[in-house]
Amino acid sequence: MGFKEIKGQERAVAQLKAGLTTGRISHAYLFYGPEGIGKAKAARIFARALTCENPLEGEPCEICSNCRKAHSGNHPDIQEVFPDRTSLKISQIRNLQSKVYLKCYEGRFKVIIIHDAQLFTIEAANSLLKVLEEPPERTIFILLADNIQNLPDTIRSRCLHIQFNPLDQGVISEILTEQGVNTKIPLSLGQGSVGKTLKLMERIDYQQLLLNISHLIGDLKRAGYREILAWAESLEKDREMLEVTLELITSMYRDRLVRCTTGKEELLWGTDDFVEKESKPEICIAILEEINKVPLYLKHNVNLRLVLEMLLIKLRNIEREERRLDSID
Ligand SMILES: [Zn+2]
Repeated sequence: MGFKEIKGQERAVAQLKAGLTTGRISHAYLFYGPEGIGKAKAARIFARALTCENPLEGEPCEICSNCRKAHSGNHPDIQEVFPDRTSLKISQIRNLQSKVYLKCYEGRFKVIIIHDAQLFTIEAANSLLKVLEEPPERTIFILLADNIQNLPDTIRSRCLHIQFNPLDQGVISEILTEQGVNTKIPLSLGQGSVGKTLKLMERIDYQQLLLNISHLIGDLKRAGYREILAWAESLEKDREMLEVTLELITSMYRDRLVRCTTGKEELLWGTDDFVEKESKPEICIAILEEINKVPLYLKHNVNLRLVLEMLLIKLRNIEREERRLDSID
């Protein structure tokens, strides 16, 4: 199959294939982008194309003995390193160091794929840096990272960056259908990641969650500080659920906005079962604006709990304004 297996990442694939066909191969790559969008799969195909005996136009032949060994995970020149629990440790890099200066066993290149490179300890990153500064001959490092901000500049600057983008919902749907998976949650919740969508499908009871959030939002107008602080506390505890909850609230107000401005039921995202039928566009827009600010605050390291408390208080105040407007009307 080769690079055809990678869906929705045309630019990244084109960059990799261009290197393979021209022979301009970097000794270190950094594949970055959210989890579950094809980075690891692309790294393995790239590794096969590098070790293949008969590569054709940047694609592995998939039938030579090197390709077959790589497929079964038994190629001596292809190594994958995963975090040891929550971090990539110096012992793992030392272990690699002892091997990378040895000759290739079979293929043209040795390929080291390092998963979750954002989890390097400082010592491990420094140790890898030494290897990257004196790159062993014909050894290619592929670092995979969800978030490159957490990688030291010194390592980032020594890699060729290949960006992987969140996938369109159409692409996610196509991939899930191919895998025989029935989608039980709105694809927007997966935020462009097949991996995340699958994880969420396992984890959440969507209908129940929808009901809970609709009750919480419904009660928000009347909520006192104690309830708001309790909700913020429970949201803070589970980052993944926080993202889903914010996504659902956004989707709900987006549906309200569409309904009150266009009245077109066919444009709704399907959260209409639990939205109030009547709303005002300015209320919806004000609320959507507040929710959209959350990632920005978090980027600037503002305390998450504080951000959530302020957000819920603002949403409540905006909703209360609606009541006042209603009574004026
Ligand atoms: Zn081959």
